[in-house]
Amino acid sequence: MDIFEKAFNYTLASEAKESGFYPYFLPMSGNEGTEAIYQGKRLIMCGSNNYLGLTTHPKVRKAAQEAIGEHGTSCTGSRFLNGTLEMHLELERRLADWVGKEAALVFSTGMQVNLGTVSAVVGRGDVAILDKDDHASIVDGARLSWGETRRFRHNDLEDLERVLESVPDDKGKLVIVDGLFSMEGDIAPLPEMVPLCKKHGARLMVDDAHAIGVLGGGHGTAAHYDMTEGVDLIMGTFSKSFASLGGFIAGDAQVIDYIQHHARSLIFSASIPPSNAAAALAALEVMRDEPERVERLSQNGKKMREGLQALGFDIGNSCTPVIPVIIGDDTRTFQAWHMLLDSGVYVNAIISPATPPGRQLLRTSYMATHTDEQLDHVLGIFEKVGKQLDLIQ
Ligand code: PMP
Repeated sequence: MDIFEKAFNYTLASEAKESGFYPYFLPMSGNEGTEAIYQGKRLIMCGSNNYLGLTTHPKVRKAAQEAIGEHGTSCTGSRFLNGTLEMHLELERRLADWVGKEAALVFSTGMQVNLGTVSAVVGRGDVAILDKDDHASIVDGARLSWGETRRFRHNDLEDLERVLESVPDDKGKLVIVDGLFSMEGDIAPLPEMVPLCKKHGARLMVDDAHAIGVLGGGHGTAAHYDMTEGVDLIMGTFSKSFASLGGFIAGDAQVIDYIQHHARSLIFSASIPPSNAAAALAALEVMRDEPERVERLSQNGKKMREGLQALGFDIGNSCTPVIPVIIGDDTRTFQAWHMLLDSGVYVNAIISPATPPGRQLLRTSYMATHTDEQLDHVLGIFEKVGKQLDLIQ
């Protein structure tokens, strides 16, 4: 039997492309800030993770350019061997400080942080306890580990307690949640979760990929709730508010040291390039020096949540600048996505498995640099498309 048989039989994507309703891998000729260019047409970007708009910030750009001038384009090796620059250590010190932890460790992507951290910490006989809506990189990290994985219903504390109680006391337990859930824009209930984990002797890791730069004055979900002490590991990525690529894990120095010497995705992969590290460092400085960006982002999120809700859209439990427009079936999700694109608004069409069946949605996300005029225009387009598709009255 030919192992490629499954590929030869895979026609879903090509059929969708032929029908003109294929919303993925769109090649854009420009995608820097609040506007993107697709097939020569300008779109208002309401689907990026560039929450603070820093990809165009002069300080961030300059830092990346200067790092290439000084250190070249790559470190051509793992952090473990020849690939650590002083700049990486500086970045780690500043990140640890920013999230209020003793130490941090920088990886080349956020995906690699979760793969490496979860598989290093959850050993044989241990249990990873995951929210059902956790990001794929956490799920995959748990799969790569030698331990067992158990899941609890999304943000459901009773169900979390049921799972915690089902694990024998002699097993190590790591509860892992997204701080700000990337598809529906809701937040993990840390004030209840932290004591629950403590009660059952479990450690808590929060994936703050979407929360750093967004919540808690930019310091993340734990800071948002003033619960930094209670969260054992804080994960972040540079591919969103930091306007770069890479990621980090922060926690107690001894735990970070253990991860540094056991995370295979760190040890067996090349380090983050100098330009990306420098951009992340500069972005962190901008977050500190320009807190008004975080504030403006939060205002833009509020304006859009209120605006979409007033039009009659179902935006789930979002309380952040990540706002789902829940549609509930594949066809209408793709239709709405296509009509919005035709009208000059870019959003992301999300279907299963990224969202549970029945919760197919348009993921919209906003930036600190969106203007009121842009946002009002987007609301007008949503109204037009929503009415045409009978999503709203
Ligand atoms: N965690 C979450 C919650 C994410 O949304 C993402 C990126 N989509 C990642 C981790 C992985 O981050 P990166 O893009 O840096 O690999």
